[in-house]
Amino acid sequence: MLYTSTRNGAISISSAQAIKQGLSEEGGLFVPNSFPTVSKEDLEKMVDFSYNERAFFILKKYLTDFTDEELRNCVNQAYTREKFETESIAPLYGIDDKTYFLELWHGPTCAFKDMALQILPHFMTVSAKKTGETKTITILVATSGDTGKAALEGFKDVDGTKIAVFYPENGVSDIQKLQMITQQGGNVYVASVKGNFDDAQNGVKHIFTDDKYKAELAEKNIMLSSANSINFGRLVPQVVYYFNAYCELLKNDKIKSGDPINVVVPTGNFGNILAAYYAKQMGLPIGKLICASNENNVLTDFINTGIYNKKRSFHLTTSPSMDILISSNLERFLYEISGKDDRLISELMKQLNEDGVYEISDDMKKKVQENFFGGFCDDAATKETIHSTFERYSYLIDTHTAVAKNVFDQYKEKTGDETVTVIASTASPFKFAPSVLDAVKEEYDREVDEFRLLHELSEASGMKIPKSLEALQESERRFADVFDKNEMRQAVSGFLKI
Ligand SMILES: *Cc1c(COP(=O)(O)O)cnc(C)c1O
Repeated sequence: MLYTSTRNGAISISSAQAIKQGLSEEGGLFVPNSFPTVSKEDLEKMVDFSYNERAFFILKKYLTDFTDEELRNCVNQAYTREKFETESIAPLYGIDDKTYFLELWHGPTCAFKDMALQILPHFMTVSAKKTGETKTITILVATSGDTGKAALEGFKDVDGTKIAVFYPENGVSDIQKLQMITQQGGNVYVASVKGNFDDAQNGVKHIFTDDKYKAELAEKNIMLSSANSINFGRLVPQVVYYFNAYCELLKNDKIKSGDPINVVVPTGNFGNILAAYYAKQMGLPIGKLICASNENNVLTDFINTGIYNKKRSFHLTTSPSMDILISSNLERFLYEISGKDDRLISELMKQLNEDGVYEISDDMKKKVQENFFGGFCDDAATKETIHSTFERYSYLIDTHTAVAKNVFDQYKEKTGDETVTVIASTASPFKFAPSVLDAVKEEYDREVDEFRLLHELSEASGMKIPKSLEALQESERRFADVFDKNEMRQAVSGFLKI
């Protein structure tokens, strides 16, 4: 399997090279040349596999330049019982016989980003070795909250790597911020940026495309790479859990072999839902992909109109990991439905960059709507959904997952579609304790610190506080730097001491 760029079809590289590099030189994203396939018989065979065996089976189809031993080591170092609280890694929780939450938050940072970021550092070190790399790999991350911590946790003290994380000053929750500024490890750096997530992400993208700066770093034996969901090594582990969910439904006789399922994903950067689309392209029987947004509903409008317009007001919501107006991974989907038209994709992305808007052809729009349903809900509806889900099913969901549940209810109302559905549950409710508590408890003292709220939430729900969150209270605060969005390069240089 070889990889090319969404903006330059002349590029043809191995998966190791794509993972090491992160982003293509001209700014495009790496994509596989074709989709590997998984047959009905393969799926039936996978039913008896463990999570790690399923992961190996799927990953092997993409990372064809990795040896079996290399890939098994990556998988077995990432998905362990020490790191994930449950044997099944990504369990399903059914609230009725047609609706299942896919809990992707049992990893060390309590959000779904762990599913990919626990394995990416291992992909990265193997990829460096395979491509004869001797430079220190420096990971730059812009985060809307959850990626940053998950990347720090994944890369901390991994030999031959360093990691710098930038988060928007007022765009993450208290717990998310604490998780990052208390990060342990000798190769890590964390700073905040004055601005929103898109400012932080653009800052990182500018550094990645600054050839002069990269040459300067190369002289010091340093190379940059990305752990954002633009890295193909982030995307491919996410494909795995959709196959895993299907196998679990088969195993428990909730569906029959070949039955379609729908998938609902609370969406920000379009990474998680793109992984479900990849799974579908590989042959997993997925009907509709339901793309759920919060008030930053640029994707809802895009799916419904074919016009992507980021020129709109930016809302800080109770689902901050989805407060995004530029969904980077959409580019990979556009590439597929345009018939792999690298020139068109370059042009659309240029328009987005310069004018803040682009429109796709009717033919492409048709393909968008064949695959996706788009919907959104505001904070009040999110809160109401947490409340009603808890009342009705005694099941507590976080704000992001609630956006997905709400949009799923809208979808069912509109279409009457009764297909078995998997809703991606992307964070532990404890990670967003103030908003979740607000939804399930009428009377409580809002002035107390977030740790008191964790206990309140635990009492109200009967769920145990995740250990990693409880430990934060005692942890040393290590990072306090704040930068202007134009100063991010200086911040990186300071960290790297160049
Ligand atoms: C990152 C994140 C999302 C959005 O996922 P994308 O892959 O960016 O679409 C949703 N929920 C939570 C909790 C997240 O951390």
